[in-house]
Amino acid sequence: MNFSQHNRPQFIGKASNTEFDLLVIGGGITGCGIALDAALRGMKVALIEKKDFGFGTSSRSTKLIHGGLRYLKQLELKLVRDVGRERAIVHRNARHVVLPEKMLLPIVKDGSLGKQSSSLGLLVYDVLAGVKRKEQRVMLNKHFTLEAEPLLNETKVTGGGLYFEYRTDDARLVIELAKSAFSEGALLLNYCEAKKFTKNASGKINGIEVEDKLDGKTFTISAKKIVNAAGPWVDILRKEDGSLTGKRLQLTKGVHIVFPYAKIPLKQAVYFDTPDGRMIFAIPRNGITYVGTTDTVYNQNIDSPRASKSDVDYLLKAVNAMFPKVEVKATDVISSWAGLRPLIHEDGKSPSELSRKDEIIIAPSGLISIAGGKLTGFRLMAEKVTSLVSKLLNTEDGKIFASCTTKKYLLCGGKFNDHEDLKKHFQDLKNNCAFSDIEEEKLLTLFHRYGSETQKVLSFLSFQKNENINEQILLAELKYCIENESVYHAEDFLVCRTGNLFFAHPQTIVLLTKIVEFLAAEWQWNNTQKDTALATVTKLFNDAVTFE
Ligand code: FAD
Repeated sequence: MNFSQHNRPQFIGKASNTEFDLLVIGGGITGCGIALDAALRGMKVALIEKKDFGFGTSSRSTKLIHGGLRYLKQLELKLVRDVGRERAIVHRNARHVVLPEKMLLPIVKDGSLGKQSSSLGLLVYDVLAGVKRKEQRVMLNKHFTLEAEPLLNETKVTGGGLYFEYRTDDARLVIELAKSAFSEGALLLNYCEAKKFTKNASGKINGIEVEDKLDGKTFTISAKKIVNAAGPWVDILRKEDGSLTGKRLQLTKGVHIVFPYAKIPLKQAVYFDTPDGRMIFAIPRNGITYVGTTDTVYNQNIDSPRASKSDVDYLLKAVNAMFPKVEVKATDVISSWAGLRPLIHEDGKSPSELSRKDEIIIAPSGLISIAGGKLTGFRLMAEKVTSLVSKLLNTEDGKIFASCTTKKYLLCGGKFNDHEDLKKHFQDLKNNCAFSDIEEEKLLTLFHRYGSETQKVLSFLSFQKNENINEQILLAELKYCIENESVYHAEDFLVCRTGNLFFAHPQTIVLLTKIVEFLAAEWQWNNTQKDTALATVTKLFNDAVTFE
């Protein structure tokens, strides 16, 4: 059976009629990572997500699989070591969507890093993360730093360091995890919100009352163990459980803004100092350059964080100081996103000082909450949580599950033995498309989205003469995502499957009506449903370029 909303009635039926070993709340990177790990160990596992998979923080990050160089300054050596080592593992798990990226760290006069400390810091970073010798950092003098990135402020730069990271599309990584978990037997439902816990006579959690957000109906899912992986919403569920005591979340907001590549034509990704002593990224990719992030305490509505005018001004100031030739203004911004970091509160610490470590909290009711952490460390977090669940089920029920196998698992779309295999696969794809109008760059974008599944996406192309080929490809992607990636709303497709809201805002906003028409035909929406769908997705596109 496909991972498609067409099969939703059967999925809901199964969810209400099964007692699961494990039920996960939250379909971000953390929850989907746990669902996959648990399914691979042989657990009967279900996951519910109140919006779309990845729609929370996991589609609003800097989109780097990185070791967190700046945590070295805070002496978080274990964190740097753990996530640093995870980079290469996650790359092997999903080579199509986790790509190596050289990062330039410019050293500037009056900056937070000196030449000696940068050189030593980057070396320690490489050693802790176990980076191969040929990929270890290279220190550059002023001349070669400016050659690597000519847009840098030549009056400020004194040198630089080139080091090794990976970039990803966070939401696509989540979807590949969700699809993989589904293919391994897990049941994953988006648009299902956990409302209330059900408990047995001794007060132990044994299920959840769920609201189906697509039809408003409620049903109950029973499970022996429940993991709360709700990211920024973790404490709301702990409160509902009656166990919000001791450690609490401190949410901080991080904003990114997007420019046309021509406005900030960087030769390469740069991690640079801001005038107030923080560090931010500028990353060129696929015809745009994005810049971020901010880090400010957040106490407003968790469901809809947005970039404010002051966030945008802060980032513009930092860009213009480091790359004075670009002279960017607010009107140059073509999209933006804002995400909330679910960090653990520590008294007296500023947002940037709060640790990015993850933490598991077990409530007296048995609710297991996981908070903190990074996108990069999701596999390790999932391993920790699933091992705990496995141990508990063994002690309480005598059940025996396999141990963790995610280290060597090839995710859906990432079925490549090595880099050569990936290259060969892309070459085969090019050969197959040789007589079509599909440009190589477009094909590469699709390949980095769908990997070993790209041919299946292309099989939905109808090749209608006189129609724009890129629009036809977009609709083929949409059909593939409806059939195989559980897409229901236009925003599912434009935020978490393609990232077009962020990376192709101007080209996509003019196609919203067409996309909604396509979905309306698929789901047989009436005019009111169609109008609501169009209004919702249009608002999302407008919000990404409106700053108050
Ligand atoms: P989320 O992705 O938020 O998922 C939680 C999900 O739970 C949500 O989808 C939500 O809808 C769902 N949910 C909530 N309540 C319920 C309910 N009652 N019922 C059902 N579902 C519910 N990390 C990196 O490694 N690299 C980076 O480059 C990076 N950059 C970042 C930049 C920014 C600006 C931010 C904010 C974070 C960044 N991070 C980065 C950290 C990383 O993005 C997060 O740690 C990670 O995405 C958190 O994932 P999560 O699954 O725990 O939370």
